[in-house]
Amino acid sequence: MIITKKKDFQELMENIKGYKSFFLIGCSECASLCGTGSQEAIDALTEALKAEGKEVTGGFVAKTGCQVLGTKTELKPFKEQLDKSECILIMSCGAGTQAATEIFEDKPVYPTNDSLFLGNMTRFQMFDERCSLCGKCILDKTGGICPLTACPKGILNGPCGGCKDGKCEVSPDIKCAWVRIYERMKRLDKLQELCDNALEAKDWSASIKPRTLVARPHKEEKKK
Ligand code: SF4
Ligand code: SF4
Repeated sequence: MIITKKKDFQELMENIKGYKSFFLIGCSECASLCGTGSQEAIDALTEALKAEGKEVTGGFVAKTGCQVLGTKTELKPFKEQLDKSECILIMSCGAGTQAATEIFEDKPVYPTNDSLFLGNMTRFQMFDERCSLCGKCILDKTGGICPLTACPKGILNGPCGGCKDGKCEVSPDIKCAWVRIYERMKRLDKLQELCDNALEAKDWSASIKPRTLVARPHKEEKKK
């Protein structure tokens, strides 16, 4: 899931100082789990904006904020409130904000959140970054632990010389990613495999941006 955190309120107020009326759009997926795009978050921001003398014409939680067509359809019943608002505030990730930019061609759209990383929820509203979306996964060779993400240096054949007592040189409060990989491979009785398969220099061509993907089968494939 995409991890977001609320922007500093004063920063938001500075960004929207030229507008008086707003419509708020949350997202029921990642942003709700992060507490940044839920109905409660919309209610809280509505109160905070009103306290600053702003008008909130309405708000709703989109099912999937980054889904352009779905969100556009969901917004139809809110036409009147949307027409009355000078500006749209998006309470989701950057992808959701840019879906709104596409939907509202003639209205300003502002994000209320900062998008941080792709994360795992380890406990309620506690998140860890585990994958950097490199485009060519090597977890099959590293015991299911990503050195590109778990190691601050992204070292592919570690550990580096700074590893001390199993801890990371850069962030001593975390275990060295390569110690974790070693211990996992040992538990799986795959240490020889780890030794025999030194990782080659990373080919970053799969992460050149912007990336696109057509996941649905082509018509020809469907016919088969
Ligand atoms: S190797 Fe790449 S795709 Fe796989 S977990 Fe790491 S960053 Fe993500
Ligand atoms: S100590 Fe381990 S996790 Fe930290 S930078 Fe070196 S190899 Fe990476």
